[in-house]
Amino acid sequence: MEQTLSLIKPDAVERNLIGKIINVFEDNNLKIGHMKKIHVDRQFAEKFYEMHKERPFFNDLCNYISSGPLVAMVLEGDNAIQKNRELMGATNPSEAKEGTIRKMFAISIDKNSVHGSDSAESAKREIELFFS
Ligand code: ATP
Ligand code: MG
Repeated sequence: MEQTLSLIKPDAVERNLIGKIINVFEDNNLKIGHMKKIHVDRQFAEKFYEMHKERPFFNDLCNYISSGPLVAMVLEGDNAIQKNRELMGATNPSEAKEGTIRKMFAISIDKNSVHGSDSAESAKREIELFFS
């Protein structure tokens, strides 16, 4: 059993997509170990996205993720990290495959509805940030 952090980002919470997105995880044998709705502040956002601090979109990214409530979840299951990434689809929804969460629900590369940890190391760090 593996754990990963999933976020339903503010654009999706705002559009009442929490249930539809959770359905995708449950239909694919991922279990919700922990879950909370939270409005993070700018300081938390900067810490969460610290690996992107040199990228040109860092400021917009931190503003966006702290712009409204999000849903944070620990997803659990076999191969949960990679499975979640596959269910999410490509970062840019215009490149995401049919049936993926981002293809179905995301608006743009910045308002892309979900986050998923990209490695075991990130999963550990991100779960501790949200759930300790
Ligand atoms: P996430 O980390 O949210 O799961 P990801 O791993 O697919 O997404 P990253 O490369 O880690 O993508 O980028 C983090 C977030 O930064 C993306 O989800 C997206 O919202 C934003 N982002 C990435 N690239 C760009 C870009 N070129 N322009 C604007 N925003 C971007
Ligand atoms: Mg990422």
